[in-house]
Amino acid sequence: MGIFNKINKIFAKKDDIETNVDNKKKIKESKRTTQENKIISEKSSTVKQLSTESTKKKNENDSNHKIESKLDKTLSKTREGFFNKMKFFFSGKNKVDSDFLDQLEEMLITCDIGVSTTIKIIDLVERYVSKHKYVDQDEVKNILKEQIKNLLDVNEPNLSDSQTKPYVILFVGVNGVGKTTTIAKLANFLKNNGKKVLIGAADTFRAAAIEQIDLWAKKINTPIVKQKMGSDPAAVTYDTIQSAISNDFDYVIIDTAGRLHNKINLMTELEKISSTVRKITNFPPNEVVLALDASTGQNALEQAKQFLKSTNVTHLALTKLDGTAKGGVVISICDQLNIPIKYIGVGEKVEDLQLFDKSKFVESLFN
Ligand code: GDP
Ligand code: MG
Repeated sequence: MGIFNKINKIFAKKDDIETNVDNKKKIKESKRTTQENKIISEKSSTVKQLSTESTKKKNENDSNHKIESKLDKTLSKTREGFFNKMKFFFSGKNKVDSDFLDQLEEMLITCDIGVSTTIKIIDLVERYVSKHKYVDQDEVKNILKEQIKNLLDVNEPNLSDSQTKPYVILFVGVNGVGKTTTIAKLANFLKNNGKKVLIGAADTFRAAAIEQIDLWAKKINTPIVKQKMGSDPAAVTYDTIQSAISNDFDYVIIDTAGRLHNKINLMTELEKISSTVRKITNFPPNEVVLALDASTGQNALEQAKQFLKSTNVTHLALTKLDGTAKGGVVISICDQLNIPIKYIGVGEKVEDLQLFDKSKFVESLFN
């Protein structure tokens, strides 16, 4: 599946990606030309068609390849931490017995897949092994891979009316998990796909937070709405959305202050921000994205569980997957929380954001 198809699938519920429409037009036009050419010369039309197709395929392949190799690099620590060990482990064994399963269980847990998710996986492997008498290592590896893919299958929640414009994305989470950085990356990504994006600096808690997002906005050349430190985050949100409506923006992304689920006043503030969005657009935010730091492993899962008790989160962003051996937490998060991971952070640079793709993720882990 090409990058444009993917972007369409995930983002373009409310409208088509213009570039894609353009591309389709171009392909249509090129087909028409091809047909006309056919009348003139059958041979030359075939050559033309083939070359158009191969250029298109090449571009798609290039961009897919780039995303995959970045993901491979990102997950290298997780892979080394566990899956390489597993490779070694597999190569030394020639029998799948209870000893083998015990060790497999231990390895899954050390990779931050978590106890309950690991038990689920082991159960399935065990059942398969007892059903099929002679199971070799490759088979076990394949079952493991399939099981992990299944666990990553989380349904998309029903989003609010996706026809709304602007599409409002609210980022929430504790301090330092990567909200602001992810917002900058996402704004840049959307902008590069021809969207008009407006950022709202609703983390008014610290002056440094406003400065930080303002710097990012300048860097990625994206407009931002901000007020002075200490102002009401709901008021900033109000201004941002009003401005987006008057200026026909496609997306609004709101940064918020880091907060813990147990800080009642801060959680009330979040509710106030959401209800401000509802008041202006008649809909709740299209996405409430909880950012989690993957490098904290199982703690990220616990943090999410606590947060979800009091906030209506629709999507997750897993940051800092690069440089951590705890990438296995992605699997337990998908298994234990019924909320899709939409974004993954694969580095500190503005281009280091990917849309989470479970197949690519698993392939990369087992690479
Ligand atoms: P916030 O407090 O949630 O807004 O977090 P920030 O966006 O300020 O990020 C905190 C730190 O995490 C910064 O130093 C970022 O550069 C870093 N960071 C964010 N995302 C990533 C990522 O995907 N990979 C890495 N390596 N660092 C990240
Ligand atoms: Mg921040």
